[in-house]
Amino acid sequence: MDLSRFKRVSLGHFPTPLERLENLTKRLGGPEIYIKRDDCTGLATGGNKTRKLEYLVADALDKGADTFVTQGATQSNHVRQTAAAARRFGMDCYALLERRVTNMGEDYERDGNVLLDDLFHCHYEFRPEGLDMNAEAQAFGEELKAKSKRPYIIPGGGSNPVGALGYVQCAEEIVAQAEEQGIKIDRIVHATGSAGTQAGLVAGLHSLKSQIEVVGISVRAAREAQIANVHRLACQTSDLIGDQTPPAVEQVIAYDGYVGPGYGQPTDEMVDAINTLASEEAILLDPVYSGKGMAGLIGLIRDGVLKKGENIVFLHTGGSAALFAYQHLFSRQQAA
Ligand SMILES: *Cc1c(COP(=O)(O)O)cnc(C)c1O
Repeated sequence: MDLSRFKRVSLGHFPTPLERLENLTKRLGGPEIYIKRDDCTGLATGGNKTRKLEYLVADALDKGADTFVTQGATQSNHVRQTAAAARRFGMDCYALLERRVTNMGEDYERDGNVLLDDLFHCHYEFRPEGLDMNAEAQAFGEELKAKSKRPYIIPGGGSNPVGALGYVQCAEEIVAQAEEQGIKIDRIVHATGSAGTQAGLVAGLHSLKSQIEVVGISVRAAREAQIANVHRLACQTSDLIGDQTPPAVEQVIAYDGYVGPGYGQPTDEMVDAINTLASEEAILLDPVYSGKGMAGLIGLIRDGVLKKGENIVFLHTGGSAALFAYQHLFSRQQAA
């Protein structure tokens, strides 16, 4: 597979480490657990959007854009990282923030990622829940064009085939690191939302003819819908990289048992997972994505789906900036 024909800017620190989680492995008493540290990609506290943005920003520059328009939930990591990337290239960033989570208190609309959006001079506007947010962003882009701006619209989560190239490249990186370290990886587990991360991994591993399974832990959609979203984007990505055969739908595995009451809504399992990783490994997860992803990994071990003798890689997709928007869940002072 040759990704060199795709333009890419440098925004992050790569390769991110692939490390063994010794304490967690011992504590859970199941498979060997490794972690792929995509929380350490750099770019304003890191996360999985860095890899996607390296391709998306290059595409925007190639097309002569001067402004990014994107969208996400209020505590969007994607918006924060897009706003950060815009600063690096002297571009403007407009973001539409969907009020998808409305019961979280004052910190939620001010702290965490929103505070960082402020630091990066992101122009954000709130929108009520339930709109077609990609259509809103498109319409917003048209308004900017009428004001002689040259907008480049990035879909929610940076999840289109160009953004997914970042995770095709990550699949290559993981396979190379596993070989170097002599680890036979059985599965990669991670939080899945707008689908670009899993789609890129599936397309990349498929192209490499790797047997590694990718297990997505849904943070929002029901299982069937998430599988369909990931599969559709994986096929488009596979096509973009010039693969002869698309990945089969059976190559997309997803679980929806860890969403809880909804997107961005806390669950006990998520709080446990965040506390466990902090106390066992000093690793910071987040309440919306990686905390639920890790809750999924722990749950699948308890249910015997992930077994002793296997090597599991947890892809840490980042997100810890959102912890500060959910302080009440973790502050021991507030609990006291
Ligand atoms: C966006 C995001 C995800 C989900 O990735 P998708 O490509 O949208 O599926 C997972 N974790 C974190 C921290 C994120 O910000």
